[in-house]
Amino acid sequence: GYMEKYESQVYQHGTLGMLVPGLFEGTLTVAELLEHGELGIGTASGLDGEMVLLDHTPYLVQSTGEVRILKPEEKVPFATVHFEQAKDTFTANGLTQKQLGEQILANYPYKNLFFAVKITGRFSKVKTRAVEKQTRPYKTLTQVADEQALFEAEAITGTVIGYFAPEMFQGMAAAGYHLHFLADDKSMGGHLLDFEIEQATVQLQPFATIEQHFPMADQEFLEKDLAIADLHAQIKQAEGQN
Ligand code: ZN
Repeated sequence: GYMEKYESQVYQHGTLGMLVPGLFEGTLTVAELLEHGELGIGTASGLDGEMVLLDHTPYLVQSTGEVRILKPEEKVPFATVHFEQAKDTFTANGLTQKQLGEQILANYPYKNLFFAVKITGRFSKVKTRAVEKQTRPYKTLTQVADEQALFEAEAITGTVIGYFAPEMFQGMAAAGYHLHFLADDKSMGGHLLDFEIEQATVQLQPFATIEQHFPMADQEFLEKDLAIADLHAQIKQAEGQN
């Protein structure tokens, strides 16, 4: 078969669904998170911005537009990370985010798998958002998403990193693509809403295993009622899914 003798795994702390009712407090240290991967995405405690983990360095794009590196002792409520072991590499020219996403699913047998997407190169257009740091009492994720900061850039070099999750895992992750961006010069980044590739290298890494880690010591999580009824609609709204 296509993937004989190829296996890699992804690690996730927390679930996207936990953020929906406002479980924003960090529950795993960055130091512990980095034991499980060198690439990935996430958010910081209090939903303070968008994390972009590149080269084992946890950058945080804040709603002010500032990019800083998270300290080892800082905590994250939700993050997904992996060690790089790309399976497929190809060059993309002049593709929109939507076109690239469709092309990947048309060309690779990955629609029922979790896989990582890494894109490095030049983008003619990038549109991102960064959520604003929240304080208690926490609002819901959709309320926070209404207050996000938006950033746009043209003719910019950088890296896209993130994941695809099959539709049936909506809630555990964001169904479909969930991608973050960081400019090479660290001038701009965040949760991707849209982009257009000028010329870039695309790498895919399908996962045979997902390790889902829960914040077992967090009393608030243990007691929270995680209602699934409106989850799908709320995640789609908050994550900018079409
Ligand atoms: Zn995101």
